[in-house]
Amino acid sequence: MLLKTILLNNYRNYTKANLLCSPTLNIIWGNNAQGKSNLLEAIYLLSTGQAYRTNHDQELVRWGASYYLIKSEIQNNERTLDIELMYQIDQKKSLKIDGYKRSRISDVLGVFNVVLFSPDDLYLVKGGPTRRRRYLDLTICRLNPSYYYYLQQYQKTVEQRNQLLRSLAITTSSLATLEVWDQQLVILGAKILGRRLQILPKLTKLSSYFYRKIASNTEQLFVRYQSTVNLPLENQEIDCSESTIARYFSDHLKHIRKEERKRGVTLIGPHRDDLVLYLDQHEMRNFGSQGQQRSAALSLKLAELEILANEQGDYPVLLLDDVLSELDSSRREFLFTQLLNKVQTFLTTTQYTYLNAEILKKASLIEVKNGVLWPT
Ligand code: ATP
Ligand code: MG
Repeated sequence: MLLKTILLNNYRNYTKANLLCSPTLNIIWGNNAQGKSNLLEAIYLLSTGQAYRTNHDQELVRWGASYYLIKSEIQNNERTLDIELMYQIDQKKSLKIDGYKRSRISDVLGVFNVVLFSPDDLYLVKGGPTRRRRYLDLTICRLNPSYYYYLQQYQKTVEQRNQLLRSLAITTSSLATLEVWDQQLVILGAKILGRRLQILPKLTKLSSYFYRKIASNTEQLFVRYQSTVNLPLENQEIDCSESTIARYFSDHLKHIRKEERKRGVTLIGPHRDDLVLYLDQHEMRNFGSQGQQRSAALSLKLAELEILANEQGDYPVLLLDDVLSELDSSRREFLFTQLLNKVQTFLTTTQYTYLNAEILKKASLIEVKNGVLWPT
């Protein structure tokens, strides 16, 4: 996967900017608040249709302007494609791929894959389950575009079912309607769970491998899926077919019906599950040091990179926002020997002198000053 060119128009603090990207390493450097992260955010937006620092497109429009436009030329395996995202204030965001307008922004998923690693990713390990579910879901969405549709339908089902549960807490009618929602919940939930469990062994194996390489000690990273649906996941023999999952889900739902009616909320299902990280037998979220948590987050991201590459035959583009200076030189070395020559990388930094001459020789340096790009 390659980002060949990118054009920004009225995006954050960029009025108009154009960049011809290097296929290897692009070092975006400059002082604080010049637009380094904004550029990475725009690249990420091209990949997912969503910015990672906000959910509001209005915030992405340059102050005083009425729209933003991002245009790019990308390469996915052997195919060259143009992706164009445009947002006009008070209108819907629009997506064009190769000049053709797409009806849904989510159509962009899987066209141009990036993996982002930013200081915030510490919360992937340290924070609550939402971020970990999102990490897992976004990875799967890009391999399997129908997964996004199931997720959306599932979320709607949970909301509708919650409404009904709340009303049932007052009246006892419409139990039949609840059963219809139960069925829908189970069918969609089993599809989501099935796909999550399918990817899990690869994720566990790869993230443990990377952790071993990154952290120079002997502790081992384990990633476990914690299901609220009572799936016997400790039993390696469990058949993760949708029908088996649906059976467990449906049985457990009946079991907790009383509790759900009392609380007026859907208590089990993939929307409540978690990906729990352990260092040996200790949960990282509570016991990991900051450095261990950062290494674990990086391991998850590198695992995502490898999974996408294995499944799609092409490495995603890697975005490293301000993270290199936080890693010591041996971890940096490992990262670059892993990545250079096979992964197009964009990294932001306020200074690049900590990078060795070998790496700098292969890099393209782009200075950012007040929303203007200066390739050097
Ligand atoms: P740091 O090294 O501190 O991370 P950075 O170069 O990554 O800095 P960015 O996060 O890219 O900085 O932000 C650059 C500037 O863009 C900030 O000063 C911010 O106020 C400004 N900015 C953010 N949104 C908009 C917008 N919609 N219109 C204009 N400017 C904006
Ligand atoms: Mg920044």
